[in-house]
Amino acid sequence: EMAASLDPQNVKDHLRNMPLCMVQLQVALQTERHLKHWGRLQYGLFLKGAGLSLEDALIYFERMFTAKTKDFSKEYAYNIRHMYGKEGKRQNYPPYTCTKIIMSNAPNSNDHHGCPYKHNTVQQVSTMLAKLGISPQQQKPIMAQQQSGQFTLACMEHFKVAHPNAVTTPNVNLDNVGNHPNSWFEASVSYHK
Ligand code: SF4
Repeated sequence: EMAASLDPQNVKDHLRNMPLCMVQLQVALQTERHLKHWGRLQYGLFLKGAGLSLEDALIYFERMFTAKTKDFSKEYAYNIRHMYGKEGKRQNYPPYTCTKIIMSNAPNSNDHHGCPYKHNTVQQVSTMLAKLGISPQQQKPIMAQQQSGQFTLACMEHFKVAHPNAVTTPNVNLDNVGNHPNSWFEASVSYHK
């Protein structure tokens, strides 16, 4: 069973449950009202894995994309149905793992996909963490891991700082935090229950 019940109204309320890569995509979607191809895939598959249904994904992305993208119903709706296995080869595409996000399709400067610990500067990550309310002192262990190239460990440190006592909280499964964005999400949702 899914840890959360996502719908078009509550996606952005779950920002606190998202690892930095997905925070970055959600914030870009809110400010630019658009995501490019790889961002749509990375974020769309994450939301699917987090429990957003196909119907709700179509409603959510159409609403977020607004007037800039008149052709939503054609190109983007096709993309989304494809992600849910309803077009093309009708595969059920899984959400991306951290390894896949870190190792493939490095973003260009105006893209928002990828792993911030790998693809953004330490300064950029620090700014993002500060916006989430994480103090310079709390950022230290995160930055230290990023600087030594331990991207997934940096992500685990972010989880620990944002969820104090997670290790001793019942029903919070930390096994794949740092390996999969959806595990980070589910652990966070269970923590806040
Ligand atoms: Fe996202 Fe994984 Fe990078 Fe964390 S380590 S920001 S979950 S890709």
